[in-house]
Amino acid sequence: MSEPGNSNSKYAWREVAAHGLPKRSAPERAADFLEIYGLYDEATAREQASRCIQCPNPSCVNGCPLCNPIPQWLLLTAEGRFLEAAALLGSATNMAEICARLCPSDHLCEGACVLEGISSSVAIQPLEQFLVEYAFAHGAVSTATAPPNGRKVAVVGSGPGGLACAEQLARQGFAVTVFDAELVPGGLLVNGTPAFRLEKTVVHRRLEVLRRCGVKFQLGAQFGDKLTLNQLAEDFDAVFLGCDWRRARVLTVPGAELKGVIPAVTFLLQKTTPVPLDLSPIDVSGKRVVVLGGGDSAIDCARAAIRYGAAEAKVVYRRGAEEMQCGRQHYESAFEEGARFFFQATPVAVLGDSDGRVRGLRLVRTELGPADPGQQRPFRIVRGSEFEIEADWVIPALGFEPMPCPASDDFAGLTRNKWGGLAVDAHQMTSRPGVFAGGDMVRGPSLILESVRDARRAAAEIHSYLLGQTTGV
Ligand code: SF4
Repeated sequence: MSEPGNSNSKYAWREVAAHGLPKRSAPERAADFLEIYGLYDEATAREQASRCIQCPNPSCVNGCPLCNPIPQWLLLTAEGRFLEAAALLGSATNMAEICARLCPSDHLCEGACVLEGISSSVAIQPLEQFLVEYAFAHGAVSTATAPPNGRKVAVVGSGPGGLACAEQLARQGFAVTVFDAELVPGGLLVNGTPAFRLEKTVVHRRLEVLRRCGVKFQLGAQFGDKLTLNQLAEDFDAVFLGCDWRRARVLTVPGAELKGVIPAVTFLLQKTTPVPLDLSPIDVSGKRVVVLGGGDSAIDCARAAIRYGAAEAKVVYRRGAEEMQCGRQHYESAFEEGARFFFQATPVAVLGDSDGRVRGLRLVRTELGPADPGQQRPFRIVRGSEFEIEADWVIPALGFEPMPCPASDDFAGLTRNKWGGLAVDAHQMTSRPGVFAGGDMVRGPSLILESVRDARRAAAEIHSYLLGQTTGV
């Protein structure tokens, strides 16, 4: 084996086996809500980083919405220069420790790595986590900001995009206030994510960094109530609109209105948000739970149901395991913890009892068509293949669709794009001067990193707009 960190070796990947993060046993982790992974130690981090062959045209970078300079910080990591690597990583993204836990890396950087398919991709996400934790442990996460420049910016939405924009601007000396309708900052992706994937302490630690950079939060501020765009535009020099702005696809088969059918978002919010919600209790203990869908939310629901004592947690997906949109490790972890999967099946009806409560599902088999690059495989229903399964709770996790922006007076003057979202120019600015936008409101349901990319670009453009200087993103 080559010496760890011998970055001159182009062939370390042949000699160094890929290792994922250490993982707690399935019975242990299914009995609590803590994160399931540990961290690399320093020697393993160097060794794993040394597997990168430093491609001259790195496909991992092209696979990252932020064009994160992955090979550069991998090289520094392989050389044991962890703080330099962490600083470089931190300059290219925001809250890398959160993105590394939630991004679908096997569909992005790791999936694009040239070693994927030949061997195993470089462990980019685990190394990101290692570097951020190393930086926190060594007091090297900067909260330095430029001197105050006298300009005030309002950021609406405290999801990953809003937080990224706020951090970028605060570090440049702007007085930033983040507004959010919810009482807990972090947005849907963070608040609706179970702790076994993202512990709240990780989020709180990052929020504390932002607070120490001077970012202020006004929570429970509902748009259209006391918070209006006109008022923000009057009170602040610029506004960034970065709200979670999406709606869950609904189940439309007969019986979808029965008691016991609950959207994934509702289930996850009730099980993950640390504040009381105005929702009826969803008690899955000892019950049969069937989740519909193949994305990360579906897997989150199944794994959360197991932890809340469900007797069964089944996931029904209309395509095959290979076509699921969720992270591969997420799926494997769910299976290890006891979730069971019905592939190539789709519901045609939710079945109810005499009290109007769910008692099961009628499903039908599907057949997949040929794969088409860049497209999801088509499927068709197999006639005469209907069958039934029992269920006490049915949780549709069918993804999200774009939600047109409100037609209130506030927003009425803003130019819309073709689906009713906000149109922005090349500077991320809406048709109203000084009002910028990104993420869901502009592009529809977005990946975390797409929202962060829009937000970083908007922050750079706000700087340029207010101070007449270009900062780059
Ligand atoms: Fe390294 Fe893989 Fe990126 Fe190539 S594609 S630079 S091997 S991480």
